[in-house]
Amino acid sequence: MRSIKHIHGDKEPHWVGDGFYVKTLFNHLDDDPDFNHRHTDPFLLLDYGQPTNFAPNPNYKTQPHGVGQHPHKGFETVTIAYAGEISHADSAGGYGVIQEGGVQWMTAGRGIMHEEFHSPAFGQRGGPFSMVQLWVNLPSAHKLTEPKYQTLTRADLPIVNLTDNGNEIGKAAIIAGEWQDTTGAASTFTPINMWDIALHSAGSTTLQVPNSHNVMILVQEGTLLINDTPVSAGSLIQFATPTDTDINAANEQPATPVSDSIKLTYPKLSDDEQAPSTVKLLLLSGEPIGEPVAGYGPFVMNTQAELKQTFRDYQMGNFGK
Ligand code: MN
Repeated sequence: MRSIKHIHGDKEPHWVGDGFYVKTLFNHLDDDPDFNHRHTDPFLLLDYGQPTNFAPNPNYKTQPHGVGQHPHKGFETVTIAYAGEISHADSAGGYGVIQEGGVQWMTAGRGIMHEEFHSPAFGQRGGPFSMVQLWVNLPSAHKLTEPKYQTLTRADLPIVNLTDNGNEIGKAAIIAGEWQDTTGAASTFTPINMWDIALHSAGSTTLQVPNSHNVMILVQEGTLLINDTPVSAGSLIQFATPTDTDINAANEQPATPVSDSIKLTYPKLSDDEQAPSTVKLLLLSGEPIGEPVAGYGPFVMNTQAELKQTFRDYQMGNFGK
C-alpha cells in the first residue's frame, strides 16, 4: 500500500480574476522541503475552487466574470468543471464551453494567449460554481510543441465501476491514464492518471497506481478513510514519493511495472446518523519528468535563459502568433 506522507489543505482562498475563488493547494514555486515540485512532478500547480455561489451577472455578455487575455508557455492547463460552466478561448483558435463534469485540456506548448470566463448561460443564471485547474508540465522535448486544445465532455470520459466484493459502491471517470484495461480520454505527453472519483455507498475499494508515479488525492466532498486514515473535504493527500517506496532491488525484471494500492473506504453509518453526501475525489498520479524547472508566472521553461527569452518574446508582442 502506498503510504500517506502528509495531508494538506489549510490554504486561504484567493481570487483569480473575478470569476475563480480558489485555494492553491500546491505550486511548483513553493520551496517547502517536504512538499515541493519533486513531490508533485509532472504536476506544477493545483487551484481548487470549492463550491461558491455566484449571483446572476447582469453584464454577462459584456463583462463576464473570469480572466481576460493572458499568456502561457511550456506546459498544459487542465480545467475540470464540477459545477457551473466555463468558456475557454485561445489564440490558437481553441474555443469551447465546458459543462458540468467536463474537462478543457489546453496545451500551451510554444506559447498561447488564453482567456477563461464563466459561460454566458451560467453568468446569466448564476448558481453554484466549482472547478479545478491543474498545470501539467511538458518535458523539454515537447515544450515548444504546437498549441493544442482537447474538449472532453462528460460523455467522452470512460466510466468504471468501483466495487466492494462485487457490489458497486462508486464510479470513476477516467479523464487520463490507465485504469486496468480502460484508457482515459485525454492524450498526454507523459504518463499521467487523472481520475474523477465518486463514492455513494458504504464499503471499501482499492485503486492501483504505478509505484513509479507521484500520487496525490484531492478530497472535494464528504468524509472517508484513505488507507484507514480519516480525511475530509478540502484536503489534499500527499502520498510517499516513489523514491520513498520500497522497491524490490533484487527484482531484475524491469518489464512489469509495479503497482501500489490505495484503499478508499466509505464509512458505514450508525442508525442515528444522517446519510452523508456523495464522496468526491480527484486522483492525480504521474511519472516524474525529472528535469530542471525555470518558472515565473505563466511561463514554465527548463532554464533561466529560456525564461528570459520568453519574456523578451512576450514584451515584443510575438506571443501566440
Ligand atoms: Mn489560463
